[in-house]
Amino acid sequence: MTVGIPKGLLYSKYHVFAESFFRALGTNVVTSPDTNKVILNEGVQHCVDDACLPIKIHHGHVQWLKDKCDYLLMPRFMSLEKRKSLCPMFCGLVEMVKSSVDGLPPLIDSPIYSLDKKRLLEWALLSGSIFSRDKKAIAHAFEYALDMQRRHPTVLNDEGYTQRIGLIGHAYNIHDAFVNMNLVKKLHAMGIGVVTTESVSRIDIDIQTRRLYKPPFWYFAREYFGAAVSLCKNRLVDGFIFVSAFSCGVDSVVIELIMQETDSFPFMVLKVDEHTGEAAIDTRIEAFGDMLKRRVQNDNHCSADGKHMPCRQGVF
Ligand code: SF4
Repeated sequence: MTVGIPKGLLYSKYHVFAESFFRALGTNVVTSPDTNKVILNEGVQHCVDDACLPIKIHHGHVQWLKDKCDYLLMPRFMSLEKRKSLCPMFCGLVEMVKSSVDGLPPLIDSPIYSLDKKRLLEWALLSGSIFSRDKKAIAHAFEYALDMQRRHPTVLNDEGYTQRIGLIGHAYNIHDAFVNMNLVKKLHAMGIGVVTTESVSRIDIDIQTRRLYKPPFWYFAREYFGAAVSLCKNRLVDGFIFVSAFSCGVDSVVIELIMQETDSFPFMVLKVDEHTGEAAIDTRIEAFGDMLKRRVQNDNHCSADGKHMPCRQGVF
């Protein structure tokens, strides 16, 4: 038996767990390649027009994999934390894919409530029962997969750079080099280190979100707001780049919240969709990097006349 795992959406977050789990149950695992132009084009062709870029890309990965596996993992993330909601695209992803992609193999699509270990085990027992009748073996594979996941965190937290930028945004925009056009590599080439939101502890995120009059009920909004404000207030980065998918409602709210809370802290929003050109992104990254360097040279973020230097860049 071969299980296919598409490299779309939250793949970078759960792939170690999923691959370890299915391999421990004796299956082969095949993944789609890293996102590329072919995958993007397939996704655009096999997805509804008004979906965001990450959802289209996920469709492209499914299209690439569907004839190369006996079962296809289609993670139906319902909730990652109590009383916090995920974007409806996640809950309805399975139905979207089913209605847009023909010739799918059987799907592993049990709902995932990753609220605690017990709820996640429910998913493992349901999904694992396709490949084994032995509940003990499934529970053992689950423990092994959890252990492997703990050993492979997805955090980026560069040390040894004089300047560091906080990369804010969904994991599928930050950790997919095709979507963000090698942003991390480009920043490193400019001598700028990168810190991602995963480096901020849950306690710090909670402290920052409690300051809001009404904490956002979207799980992702809460994570990015709390992490960005914590990085800013603790002076752990010199500025932010928010990589956002065009038409994402969650992002448009959280970007505003972060901007209001961090005042004049350097902040740039890179909006990406299937038409975004790399040259324009490069120009903006270079301008932002130069501006950060000028701020350091101008003695603690102030210009010669004592005023704060302009540091916001508009939305691309
Ligand atoms: S949160 Fe935004 S980017 Fe992510 S799937 Fe939903 S609409 Fe798309």
